[in-house]
Amino acid sequence: MEQTEIPGTIFNIQKFSVHDGPGVRTVVFFKGCNLSCLWCHNPESVSAKKQVEFYPDRCIGCGRCMEACPTGAHQFDPESGIHIIRRELCTGCLSCADTCYAQALVGVGEDVTADDVFRRILDDRMYYEQSGGGVTFSGGECMLQPVFLKALLSMCRAEGIHTAVDTAGYVGWKWFEQILPLTDLFLYDVKAADEQVHKALTGAGNELILQNLTRLSKAGANIIVRIPFILGYNDGEMEGIAKLLAPLSLQKVEILPYHKLGNSKYEALGREKRAPKAQVPPAELLDKTVEAFRALGIPASHT
Ligand code: SF4
Ligand code: SF4
Repeated sequence: MEQTEIPGTIFNIQKFSVHDGPGVRTVVFFKGCNLSCLWCHNPESVSAKKQVEFYPDRCIGCGRCMEACPTGAHQFDPESGIHIIRRELCTGCLSCADTCYAQALVGVGEDVTADDVFRRILDDRMYYEQSGGGVTFSGGECMLQPVFLKALLSMCRAEGIHTAVDTAGYVGWKWFEQILPLTDLFLYDVKAADEQVHKALTGAGNELILQNLTRLSKAGANIIVRIPFILGYNDGEMEGIAKLLAPLSLQKVEILPYHKLGNSKYEALGREKRAPKAQVPPAELLDKTVEAFRALGIPASHT
């Protein structure tokens, strides 16, 4: 198969981002993640399959979704008239979202080829050149679609477009080895220092993640470590993380405070929110944390 024809599944392409690497960037969000962080801001990224979001306040009760659905997943309660989706029947075909003019149903996920995505990346080339920007591959976990990712990185490299890979690092080293020569920058998430805490917060231990980070650092990769600061969940981990990062060669460390955007998506996907105690950390606490990182010689900042 030609590199340009390699398939992948994404759920968004965000233009003009200034938060995910240097300059003005296009961010390509891959669908599918192998961690399940309690506070995840992008719950629509977790499943590798296409899904439908339902916003009941927009529903006008036209019933078109019932006609369109091949599996009978859309049902109206005969007594209350409430519209329910039996998600266990949903195959992710998105026919219902395509027929819902009221936009009460929104499809999440798009099957694409590397060429489809690359054309959209190229649209904003002028902005990358003017701002020192480029493209960031994110997710979900973009490294769970390594062949698709590698194709896109190669295509960008051939055109001189700066690339960043935003990863949680929970994949085998062999995938890093394959993309390392094609990647200009890694945005690498670190969420907890303690193995058991990491497991409780994300569903997986952090041994592989930290091993990969150390190997990337030793290989001379450009790395920005990003730490989500989730007050009520991982605020007790900052000191431990700083000690782990101090010996590594990093471009910088960015601390990203928890925010509440994305909470409404849980309901739209029929999922429960899982971090009810999460709070936005106050600026003074973030400043103090940054100072503690800097005291260990780590170039840190917070957003
Ligand atoms: S097609 Fe949209 S507006 Fe019509 S009943 Fe279904 S969800 Fe509601
Ligand atoms: S995505 Fe397809 S299977 Fe799922 S509810 Fe909509 S029409 Fe039915």
